[in-house]
Amino acid sequence: MADQDCLFCKIVAEEIAADIIYESDDAIAFRDINPQAPTHVLIIPRRHIATINDLQPGDESIVGNLHIAAKQIAAVEGLTDEGYRLVMNCNEAAGQTVFHLHLHLLGGRIMNWPPG
Ligand code: AMP
Ligand code: ZN
Repeated sequence: MADQDCLFCKIVAEEIAADIIYESDDAIAFRDINPQAPTHVLIIPRRHIATINDLQPGDESIVGNLHIAAKQIAAVEGLTDEGYRLVMNCNEAAGQTVFHLHLHLLGGRIMNWPPG
């Protein structure tokens, strides 16, 4: 069920424009509006799930498919061999600002560890 106030639900519903580069039955991916790397893509479930804390038994395929989408997008972006980073922030301390589950795919530059 879409959340009326959720930015990413509005992107899924095509009420707000985004640079969508991948679509499947249960997920879409689009370029981050404020990219932190040469490739910065957000992969999100079509269904509104606010945070990792809201995942339930039965959601395994949704979460798994985000990762399958990520490796496919990484391949299209030419990142398979050099590598890339997948990040999912949960709640404020981790830096989550949009409360619709999303997997960040970052690549095209050297990533530092530990992250800030
Ligand atoms: P997070 O901080 O993990 O919640 O990530 C939210 C991400 O959404 C940030 O990297 C933002 O730059 C990105 N973002 C916010 N609004 C939009 C938008 N309209 N289109 C694309 N990306 C967005
Ligand atoms: Zn949503």
